[in-house]
Amino acid sequence: MTRVLGKEHCPKAYEHTPEPSGYLAWHVWADGMDRLGYEQRQHDACGLWTQWVTKTGRPAKVAVRRAIEAGR
Ligand SMILES: [Zn+2]
Repeated sequence: MTRVLGKEHCPKAYEHTPEPSGYLAWHVWADGMDRLGYEQRQHDACGLWTQWVTKTGRPAKVAVRRAIEAGR
Protein backbone atom coordinates (compact mmCIF):
# COMPACT_ATOMS: atom_id res chain seq x y z
CA MET A 1 0.00 0.00 0.00
CA THR A 2 1.30 3.41 -0.91
CA ARG A 3 1.66 5.68 2.08
CA VAL A 4 0.14 9.04 1.36
CA LEU A 5 1.98 11.92 2.96
CA GLY A 6 0.75 15.45 3.44
CA LYS A 7 2.01 17.39 0.47
CA GLU A 8 4.11 19.62 2.69
CA HIS A 9 5.94 16.48 3.87
CA CYS A 10 6.71 15.24 0.39
CA PRO A 11 10.48 14.70 0.06
CA LYS A 12 10.29 16.03 -3.48
CA ALA A 13 7.81 18.87 -2.97
CA TYR A 14 9.90 20.99 -5.32
CA GLU A 15 8.53 18.82 -8.16
CA HIS A 16 4.95 19.83 -7.40
CA THR A 17 3.25 22.20 -9.82
CA PRO A 18 2.83 25.61 -8.13
CA GLU A 19 -0.82 26.18 -7.20
CA PRO A 20 -2.88 28.91 -5.53
CA SER A 21 -3.75 28.31 -1.87
CA GLY A 22 -7.39 29.49 -1.64
CA TYR A 23 -10.12 26.90 -2.22
CA LEU A 24 -12.01 28.94 -4.84
CA ALA A 25 -8.82 30.14 -6.52
CA TRP A 26 -7.61 26.56 -6.68
CA HIS A 27 -10.73 25.40 -8.52
CA VAL A 28 -10.63 28.27 -11.02
CA TRP A 29 -6.94 27.55 -11.56
CA ALA A 30 -7.56 23.79 -12.00
CA ASP A 31 -10.27 24.54 -14.59
CA GLY A 32 -7.77 26.79 -16.36
CA MET A 33 -5.08 24.11 -16.32
CA ASP A 34 -7.59 21.70 -17.85
CA ARG A 35 -8.60 24.24 -20.52
CA LEU A 36 -4.95 24.87 -21.35
CA GLY A 37 -4.61 21.15 -22.03
CA TYR A 38 -2.73 19.98 -18.94
CA GLU A 39 -3.48 16.80 -17.03
CA GLN A 40 -3.26 16.21 -13.30
CA ARG A 41 -1.04 13.36 -12.22
CA GLN A 42 -0.17 11.54 -9.00
CA HIS A 43 3.31 12.30 -7.77
CA ASP A 44 5.40 9.17 -7.26
CA ALA A 45 7.07 10.55 -4.14
CA CYS A 46 3.90 11.32 -2.12
CA GLY A 47 0.97 9.71 -3.95
CA LEU A 48 -0.90 13.01 -4.13
CA TRP A 49 -2.31 14.65 -7.27
CA THR A 50 0.20 17.45 -7.14
CA GLN A 51 1.68 17.40 -10.62
CA TRP A 52 0.29 18.75 -13.88
CA VAL A 53 1.77 17.58 -17.14
CA THR A 54 1.33 18.12 -20.85
CA LYS A 55 -0.25 15.44 -23.04
CA THR A 56 3.26 14.19 -23.71
CA GLY A 57 4.09 13.91 -20.00
CA ARG A 58 6.27 16.99 -19.62
CA PRO A 59 5.88 19.10 -16.47
CA ALA A 60 3.48 22.02 -16.93
CA LYS A 61 5.32 25.31 -16.95
CA VAL A 62 2.59 27.90 -16.76
CA ALA A 63 2.22 30.86 -14.41
CA VAL A 64 -0.47 30.41 -11.75
CA ARG A 65 -2.02 33.74 -12.78
CA ARG A 66 -2.26 32.73 -16.43
CA ALA A 67 -4.07 29.48 -15.58
CA ILE A 68 -6.47 31.36 -13.28
CA GLU A 69 -7.28 33.77 -16.13
CA ALA A 70 -7.88 30.80 -18.45
CA GLY A 71 -10.24 29.24 -15.90
CA ARG A 72 -12.52 32.27 -15.53
ZN1 LIG B 1 4.93 14.96 -3.96
